[in-house]
Formats: sequence, structure tokens, C-alpha cells
Amino acid sequence: MPELPEVETTRRGIAPHLEGQRVSRVIVRDRRLRWPIPEDLDVRLSGQKIVVVERRAKYLLIQAEVGTLISHLGMSGNLRLVEAGLPALKHEHVDIELESGLALRYTDPRRFGAMLWSLDPHNHELLIRLGPEPLTDLFDGLRLFELSRGRAMAVKPFIMDNAVVVGVGNIYATEALFAAGIDPRRAAGSISKARYIKLAIEIKRILAAAIERGGTTLRDFIGGDGQPGYFQQELFAYGRGEQPCKVCGTTLREIKLGQRASVYCPKCQK
Ligand SMILES: [Zn+2]
Repeated sequence: MPELPEVETTRRGIAPHLEGQRVSRVIVRDRRLRWPIPEDLDVRLSGQKIVVVERRAKYLLIQAEVGTLISHLGMSGNLRLVEAGLPALKHEHVDIELESGLALRYTDPRRFGAMLWSLDPHNHELLIRLGPEPLTDLFDGLRLFELSRGRAMAVKPFIMDNAVVVGVGNIYATEALFAAGIDPRRAAGSISKARYIKLAIEIKRILAAAIERGGTTLRDFIGGDGQPGYFQQELFAYGRGEQPCKVCGTTLREIKLGQRASVYCPKCQK
């Protein structure tokens, strides 16, 4: 599933080809994503220049002169640039053709993604309640400490809650808790301020490193330029259940926590 680094990698890959370009037409072959693609998307977007491509959490905001296309890659979506008119294969649901002769092509085999239109995207119902971006100063260990007081839930689902901070998916939560030496099962409300400061620093460091390397390759993810990500070989815990800890050699334990697979080192994480 594309996580924040993959979405940011996609943004960086597609933005230079979109910004300042005029849309010539929008071809929708299948509207049935998580929500239907608006029937008038072609009418609204064609003829408009794309001003900027931004990201908020895992949403890409393709801002035109009037209105913004909000796109989410869901479980299996990707956006990449192709030559306009390139015949579409199965699952290649949308082409946004540009006057440059390129087209932004949306592919999504499982169709859990989204492509919506909004005149005020930051106040859209999907975005308005999101917590701060992890790589900004609005997110830090003090926020984690304060929001967690009195909470019995485990720390891992706590840091994966989009109202606390956005973009900390299963891979990055698992890795950040390993790096900070915190047991993922520990009650969020029982963790000290000093340990949350360390955890927030690790979340930022790991997300920034993953973005730097183009995201974490998981099966078929590709960035906007068609290149796979290169973060997977650096994982310490995620996907390594029953393998030896790279730090101490202890066998990593795999459990279910909040319906998600969680791997941790019983010796390094307390
Ligand atoms: Zn260990």
C-alpha cells in the first residue's frame, strides 16, 4: 500500500511535468473508485492550467486555476506520466492529457483510490480533521505526550491515528518504535515525555530517509517516474518476524495489534 513517502515520491515525480501545463482533456474509462469520479471532471479541468501539485497526508492535491483535483492512491493505485494516446491496459482508469503531449495516467487494480474535485480542498470532509504533517514543526514529542495522557490504547495504533499525526503507516510506525526502543504494546499514556521526544525524532528521521530513497518498495509500487523505491533493504523490524534482530540477534516477535501485523524485538524494545 502506498504510504506517505511513496505519495511524496509520486508528487515529486509528477509535479515538474504538470505545473504550468494546460490540460487538454480528461479521459475516464472507469468511474468506480472508492467514490465515483465526478462525471463533469473533464468539463471542469480541461482548458485549465495546473498551478501546483501539493500533498496533504496521503492525498495529492493537483491545483488548477479554479478548483483542485484530490487524488488518493488507495491500496494499489499509482500515477505516472505516459505519452498521450498510449493505449490503456486493464486497470488504467484515467488519463489527464496535457498540451505538452504527455498524460498523467491513474492505474488502480483494486479501485480503493479516489479522484475527487473540490473548490476548497483543505476544508474537504476527507482532509479537515487530519492531524499535522509529520515533517513539520507542528508535530513533535510534546504533542504525542500531551495527546496520550490518560490513554490506555497501545502506542503503535496511537501514533498511526491520523488525528494525532498523519502519514505514519504500519511500516514507519513499526520502524520508528524499534528505533526509539519502545515496545509497540505499551499503553500510550504510560510513556514518558523524554521517550516521546525520541520517538517523534525517529518518526521524522525514518520518513525523511524513506522519501529521500523514493519510498519503500512493496510489490508493485512505482513512483511518478516509474522507478521503484529503495528503502526496503534498510528495514529493521517491519516484515522481519521470526528473523534475528539486526542489533542484538534476538528473534523478532510478530503479533497482531489493532488488526495489524506488528514486529518488535523483545530485548531492544521496552
Ligand atoms: Zn534487538
